Amino acid sequence: MKIGFIGLGNMGAPMAANLAKAGHEVTGFDMADVSVDGVTIATSGPEAAKGADVVITMLPNGQILRDVAAELIPAMTKGATLVDCSTVDVESARAVADQAQAAGILAVDAPVSGGVGGATGGTLTFMAGGSEDAFAKAAPLFEIMGQKAVHCGEAGAGQAAKICNNMILGVTMIATCEAFALADKLGLDRQKMFDVVSTSSGYSWTMNAYCPAPGVGPQSPADNAYQPGFAADLMLKDLRLSQQAAEAADADTPMGQMARDLYAKFVESEDGAGMDFSAMLPRFEKRSRT
Ligand code: NAD
Repeated sequence: MKIGFIGLGNMGAPMAANLAKAGHEVTGFDMADVSVDGVTIATSGPEAAKGADVVITMLPNGQILRDVAAELIPAMTKGATLVDCSTVDVESARAVADQAQAAGILAVDAPVSGGVGGATGGTLTFMAGGSEDAFAKAAPLFEIMGQKAVHCGEAGAGQAAKICNNMILGVTMIATCEAFALADKLGLDRQKMFDVVSTSSGYSWTMNAYCPAPGVGPQSPADNAYQPGFAADLMLKDLRLSQQAAEAADADTPMGQMARDLYAKFVESEDGAGMDFSAMLPRFEKRSRT
């Protein structure tokens, strides 16, 4: 396939490289000066999109996606497919899909889970929204860049799934960290706490697979001085998107709201910026009740 790839950052570059390695003809563009193995670099987004069967975007946020899509769509061939893999607000995903449809372009919103490690190893999970036809066009590429793709529904459904998942993740990480901090103050050994909770009804992915306590459970960013992994800043972005969506849909999400506020404080006025999102544990450790 002829593929255009716009946004060759931490995630986009290895994803584009994997597509090229699999034998596709990939032309990429990024605002920054980049080079990616096997990828021809174009001088603009529209140049990379011209004549492509599929155009993939991997960009920082919804406003940038809207701006970039407005330039790309008129340059694309009718019947081609636009696949946005960025994490953006549901409204932007739907607006871009509408614009694409009006121009005879198929559109898929397909945010990912798995981080830079998953992008490099080709083991991402894709959560996709869009028509059956659009999903079918993108599916072979998801297979190269990832290990799983779930077609979640119509336009915006992929973004909806992503922010709901990450709202659970943020809330659960906070709950796991505050429980460890309480256990410490009660004199409970962390390993014993892990042994009980990881096999009891308090188990979760954050406890069992990504334990925030160093030296306990499987290897995780806690064992590497809380270097990300999944940065607290990115968790904050996703929690903000979840609350933006909750407001728009009039959904009551008190725990998600609290998690957003706590990560905002952690990243913006404490020392959480650039740390893994599990560094909530040392944050709680240092604090008292007041
Ligand atoms: P990044 O900042 O490394 O990459 C974004 C790239 O987009 C940059 O290289 C930037 O120069 C480029 N860009 C910005 N505006 C542009 C424009 N107008 N035209 C062309 N290129 C432009 O970010 P990332 O970590 O690669 O994340 C990309 C997306 O994936 C985000 O939406 C993020 O939320 C999501 N995501 C990231 C991770 C992760 O672990 N990094 C995990 C899951 C999802």
